[in-house]
Amino acid sequence: MAPSGTQIKRGCQRVLYWIPVLFIAVIVAWSYYAYVLQLCIESIDDTGEKVVYLLVYHVVFIMFVWAYWQTIFTQPLNPLKEFQLSYSDKELLEREDRGESQQEILRRIAKDLPIYTRTNSGAIRFCDRCQLLKPDRCHHCSVCDKCILKMDHHCPWVNNCVGFSNYKYFMLFLLYSLLYCLFITATDLKYFIKFWLNGLPDTQAKFHILFLFFSASMFSVSLASLFIYHCWLVCKNRSTLEAVRAPVFRHGTDKSGFSLGCSKNFRQVFGDEVKYWPVPVFSSLGDGCSYPTCLVNLDPEQPPSPVGPIPATKIAAEARQFPSKPLRESQSRLLTTTLSWSDSEGAADKDKKGASNPIMTIEHEA
Ligand SMILES: [Zn+2]
Ligand SMILES: [Zn+2]
Repeated sequence: MAPSGTQIKRGCQRVLYWIPVLFIAVIVAWSYYAYVLQLCIESIDDTGEKVVYLLVYHVVFIMFVWAYWQTIFTQPLNPLKEFQLSYSDKELLEREDRGESQQEILRRIAKDLPIYTRTNSGAIRFCDRCQLLKPDRCHHCSVCDKCILKMDHHCPWVNNCVGFSNYKYFMLFLLYSLLYCLFITATDLKYFIKFWLNGLPDTQAKFHILFLFFSASMFSVSLASLFIYHCWLVCKNRSTLEAVRAPVFRHGTDKSGFSLGCSKNFRQVFGDEVKYWPVPVFSSLGDGCSYPTCLVNLDPEQPPSPVGPIPATKIAAEARQFPSKPLRESQSRLLTTTLSWSDSEGAADKDKKGASNPIMTIEHEA
């Protein structure tokens, strides 16, 4: 069967989306050639300086390419099957034409799921396109045409969605690309000045040295601002989307709803083990579907927390409105193990273990 017009258009789009990645790849390949061959090998006479520059350069280069690769080729995670509507629920939903009755059905399904955010109008967040209940912090990406867990943004420079599965890689990509540009700028400066003083031999190397300095310093500025912004987001436990529009909880919007304090926010992205922080391997905490929040921690069916008071207004609001699964469970799991919230085994035990942990965090934060 011949491909349809839409299929051809999709195919062309898919090819076009790789252009920014290709652009970066060409620049990086040229920078490698210019730095290693033209600057270090051709223009630097001092062997000691040459060796040190080449060693440090290659360490940063490898980390940068590794992090970039991981950001591009790590598949964004989609919601677990528990969030998808069953066949019977879909039928039920289709039969109802009133919004309120549909919401009633969705609310019934959401009862067993760790969902605490709502739409602006207070409705359950449902993706028509994927036919699923959106977990907290999950958004539908129109480019990927999928619901992406903890979606941060769709990044054209990596032709991928930045979300739960690759946010750590994205942060490391920003860090190492910034270090890469800063290192080139710093070590090239001396030769850049020599160029203007006509101190360089008249070969093509001097033009590589000139453009290397311009491009590295310009990229440094834009990467630094982006990196600083994302560091701030990590400290505040916000995604770019949440920074633009604060998440809505049942009691209203709260831009700091997922914040557990700077250190725990950082560990949510980078993990508990320091040795994995600088390495682009997965070490983020949680399953991407459920997130501890300082706003939702009281369940009417659970005994009151053994640790200190929680802001009274928050308790009252949540106790009234949350008949669902205690968040304490997902909170404690997120911060104690990497198991999925849907693993029922040992849930009671974890509940006991973690009971003080998340709430304690909140108290520190407050
Ligand atoms: Zn979707
Ligand atoms: Zn996307």
